[in-house]
Amino acid sequence: MNRVIEKVRLGRTNLHVTRLGWGGIPIQRVNVDDAVPVIRSVIEMGVDLLDTARGYSDSEHKIGLALRGVERPVVLSTKSSVRTDKIYGDVKESLKQMGVNKIQIYHLHNVTTLGQYEEVMSPGGAYEGLKRARQEGLIDYIALSSHSLRIIEKGIEDGCFDVVMACYSFLEPDAARTVFPLARAKDIGILAMKAFSGGVIEEAGPALRFVLSEPGIVPIPGSETIKKARENWKIFTEEHSLQEEDRNRMDALKKQFDQAFCRRCDYCQPCPEKVGIQFVIGLKSVIKRFGPQSQEVGWIRNIIDGARNCKECGECEPRCPYQLPIRELIKENLEWFDRSVKKSA
Ligand code: SF4
Ligand code: SF4
Repeated sequence: MNRVIEKVRLGRTNLHVTRLGWGGIPIQRVNVDDAVPVIRSVIEMGVDLLDTARGYSDSEHKIGLALRGVERPVVLSTKSSVRTDKIYGDVKESLKQMGVNKIQIYHLHNVTTLGQYEEVMSPGGAYEGLKRARQEGLIDYIALSSHSLRIIEKGIEDGCFDVVMACYSFLEPDAARTVFPLARAKDIGILAMKAFSGGVIEEAGPALRFVLSEPGIVPIPGSETIKKARENWKIFTEEHSLQEEDRNRMDALKKQFDQAFCRRCDYCQPCPEKVGIQFVIGLKSVIKRFGPQSQEVGWIRNIIDGARNCKECGECEPRCPYQLPIRELIKENLEWFDRSVKKSA
């Protein structure tokens, strides 16, 4: 039976949006003619918030084309990885790509280390660039997205952000006891990425019911087909409390991924060779989400090239709380990449 569509207040932004948002990563994998109807159908279904990023190749552009054909207003959320005040130029590019005069939520994208955080917050850093964009009315709210809960905690404590975005799934549940309570206490809006742990979890039911069982957050699972978008929306609009069956399935999947799934906590860092450990361990799911052409995307290529510098010193392994065999996983992922992705491109 269908329920009343739940909305959530996104912290001090005072935006009220459906508790299920939509993410623009998967849409990169399909061509424009297939992508536009998917985005329109997501809006027509009732989703209030669309999230994307400058770094998701043509995702902003596809969203822009889709928006031309719909009347219902949506909240737009996008991101830039530029670390200096030149991010202002990226805001302008996002506006152009999406064909709008204003973007409601603009993130500092994927700020992973304390060094990067200090860089974006320092004079001439990206935070200043976003403040300028906000003063000029190009964006409404400044947000922080990171795979590192420690960085999000820091951002919340500093009080500079209206919205934060953290990873959250049943394989990666730590945000619920760390950053979510902190954000709520400061009335900061919470967006939750990676409900499917970056494509590792293939069963939508347990994955979405788990994230929806956490109050006051907006998960943003993406979809590149109308079928998939409808499946997610159906789970959301029907009774979605966690069932015994879900718990059993989650337990089985947790066991299966226990020794192979990187929780992106970065406790293994610093690596003396500057290997982006969490990214290279998650390489398969990155390529799966972004599509095989993604190896041409600069930041992905840098991660792969950087991982080849691993000297197998092993310094990182005792620091991993999940005892992941990091050296083995790096080797395995690079071999997989050279064997299957590079050759097929
Ligand atoms: S084993 Fe590789 S990834 Fe780990 S610390 Fe050493 S060089 Fe870095
Ligand atoms: S390898 Fe271990 S310590 Fe490093 S990010 Fe992944 S889970 Fe955390």
